[in-house]
Amino acid sequence: MAKKNIRFYFSLWTVKIMRLSMKALGKNAAHLPGKFAIKLCPNFIELMDKPKHTIGVTGTNGKTTVSNLLVDMLEACGHKTTNNRLGSNMREGVASALIANSTITGKSKNDWAVLEIDERSSMHIYPYLKPEYVICTNLFRDSILRNGSPEYIQKIVSDNMQKETKLILNADDLISGSVAPENPRIYYSIRRLPSDTDKCENLVNDCQICPKCATKLEYEYVRYHQIGKAYCPKCGFSSPKPDYDAEVNFDKNTMVIYEKNAKEEYELLNNSIFNIYNQLTITALLREVGISADKIRESLKKISLPDYRYTKFRVGNIDVVDMMAKEHNPIACSVVFDYVSKEPGRKEVLFLLDDETPKESMCWIYDCDYEKLNSDLIKHIIIPGSRSLDQKLRLLMAGVPEEKIIIDMQDMEAPDYLELKDTDTIFVLHQHWKPEVDKKVVAKIKDLLNKHFGEEA
Ligand SMILES: [Zn+2]
Repeated sequence: MAKKNIRFYFSLWTVKIMRLSMKALGKNAAHLPGKFAIKLCPNFIELMDKPKHTIGVTGTNGKTTVSNLLVDMLEACGHKTTNNRLGSNMREGVASALIANSTITGKSKNDWAVLEIDERSSMHIYPYLKPEYVICTNLFRDSILRNGSPEYIQKIVSDNMQKETKLILNADDLISGSVAPENPRIYYSIRRLPSDTDKCENLVNDCQICPKCATKLEYEYVRYHQIGKAYCPKCGFSSPKPDYDAEVNFDKNTMVIYEKNAKEEYELLNNSIFNIYNQLTITALLREVGISADKIRESLKKISLPDYRYTKFRVGNIDVVDMMAKEHNPIACSVVFDYVSKEPGRKEVLFLLDDETPKESMCWIYDCDYEKLNSDLIKHIIIPGSRSLDQKLRLLMAGVPEEKIIIDMQDMEAPDYLELKDTDTIFVLHQHWKPEVDKKVVAKIKDLLNKHFGEEA
């Protein structure tokens, strides 16, 4: 292992002063200090002392929620935890988090670290960070121009995984579940749910053939996309046997997790399938590091899910649901469309997706299940922005009647096109990189509704 040298100390002290100055000026110091540290000393992350227990969290969807939940749970259990929740999930953010929680000689102040790690940053992080555990939540198609296929990402993560790292993996996803096959690993799974189907009903299923013999896989059940329980009718290959096997009871709002010698029941933080997976993931990790089920149940009472991806309020008799739909991520977006379609009542839908990205490819919309939006209960889909014609074409292909699709306006004009009469819910589906536009649009909707119901009263 490389030794700390004068170059390392020079970088550490320089960026520590930089960090203090930034904090004094009220600036977010969760990126730049790390960036400069790596510039001044390229193997900075390798030379920094790491917390005793370092956990990396990666995967296409859910890594931010899982990282945040895990930090909250560890802290609720009394462990101060180094994390990059305010910084980037690339090496700069990781380095900044280590700097922020280190002493003047680069020793870690905390025994625990939970670091969200971008899949494509694997090569810059894992060889130097050498985490004790890595959670890989799932691997799906995402930003296809940057990421290629999920197998390509799987290879990047696998190639850079250090042999001492133990993996926490989803047995229901054969793509992320096959990451770094030589590494020690534990699996978690959710048993068959009432909403599971016999065949994949999404446009995209990226795991259709046996990874061992290339025969077409059979699925005992499919949850969504490639998530489910699969087996190969020819060579006997199948989804791995879980070490943490969850049985969900929606009526009781609980899940029972079957472990090696125990069966433990936990209250659900939220009953969406993604959040159940998120909670199961962190529970598997916490049990694995020796935290008792009682302690987990007690800590669950002290935390809540972050709500920045989903907010809901009611004015008069209309609900407004503001949800993040990650454009360029067809699976995350399909999930949101599915949710919108399954909610009861008559709906107006407003898209705030992709409105100012004229150079970006729109190919992702053809991997995304727009068909879910072809529902009698959806009255209108209102689409501002310069890419609204692309969106309209895709909706027409999904069978949505043309008279329901309203385009050709600016973001802030979009609420004016909402039909409030006979509407139960207004859904605003926003992108993640322009939260301020979303906030303004939602505020305008609130004003319109207040006026509407104020006048009516
Ligand atoms: Zn096979």
